[in-house]
Amino acid sequence: YLIMTFIAKSLLPPTPSAADLLRMYKLPALRKFAQNFLLDPKATSKLVACAGKIENHFVIEVGPGPGGITRQLFAQGAAKVAAIEKDVRLFPALQILADAVEQRLKLYLDDILTFPIESVISEEYARPWTDEKLPPIDIIGNLPFNISLPLLVQWIKQTSTQTGPFKFGRIPITITLQEEVGGRLVADALMLQRGRLSILCQNWFNIKVKHIFSGRAFVPAAKINVAVMQLVPLIKPLVDVSYNRLDELTKLAFHTRNKPIGQTLALLFPLETRSENADELLSRAKLDSKSHALTLTVEEWGLLAQIYSDIIVRPRPEHEKIFQKTTHELTFKLGETFINSNSI
Ligand code: SAM
Repeated sequence: YLIMTFIAKSLLPPTPSAADLLRMYKLPALRKFAQNFLLDPKATSKLVACAGKIENHFVIEVGPGPGGITRQLFAQGAAKVAAIEKDVRLFPALQILADAVEQRLKLYLDDILTFPIESVISEEYARPWTDEKLPPIDIIGNLPFNISLPLLVQWIKQTSTQTGPFKFGRIPITITLQEEVGGRLVADALMLQRGRLSILCQNWFNIKVKHIFSGRAFVPAAKINVAVMQLVPLIKPLVDVSYNRLDELTKLAFHTRNKPIGQTLALLFPLETRSENADELLSRAKLDSKSHALTLTVEEWGLLAQIYSDIIVRPRPEHEKIFQKTTHELTFKLGETFINSNSI
């Protein structure tokens, strides 16, 4: 009976393929929406399989395009899909699929960077954060590359506070990223790709490279290879630290990655207490001032961030004015260069 129900759910009424829909509606890919479509059913099926079992799951799909992946989500047993797409031209094509699966596909014309994903998930899918078992919810998407970094940063922040969609539990994220960016996410200490993104992601997620697509798998072809990455939120982060503190520290340190960490991290502090604070930071973290950003483990970064928090919240009336300005509002002066702390 279960098998029959699964087959009945997975079989879609005959509908034109995603490639046919693009032809029917004369929809050229637009660069402004970073459109590189996956149209070959073998490729879309592979991408969805990277998410693991999605049978009876609620899936949030980022940027469904003409619906090639969306169709596979239903073929692999998704109960419901909420698809958020910014390009209005694609809606007539997507509507054909929505009609075929009736109430199971909901389409939203919106920008995923501002769309409140949590508003479309119903409570029945929620699971406690501490459950070993993940909630039956997935975030999946062949992401537009031009927004993949800000989107990822938003999801890390929300995971760190268990807010946004992550208030429903440890929702796994299965997405495409440029292979080089995917490499940065998983890079260990001493690897050249190691950077701020590696530390931030690894502190809150278990990350796997699930598959590499050649750029030729996409229409139009992408100039680079594309990695399918899976990020599963950890029950407990490697280090209990706020996103902002870890972000400030790693942003500063990796900007001047070739300088000894003692020199760089000293810039976190006001001139008057710089050397005293920097010495305290490093000695409490048991780090040599000559260590480099590339050599530190996530745990060491976390410890530095905890001690840094400790130091800056300590009441010091003479420096209150300086510390009242959060480092997020500050622009750090690094030698001759200025970096804006909001850049990635
Ligand atoms: N999923 C489709 C596929 O694999 O064929 C399309 C993938 S394409 C790389 C990215 C999709 O995201 C496009 O359909 C694009 O219009 C959409 N998109 C771009 N920016 C977006 C945004 N800010 N919010 C939601 N969708 C967006």
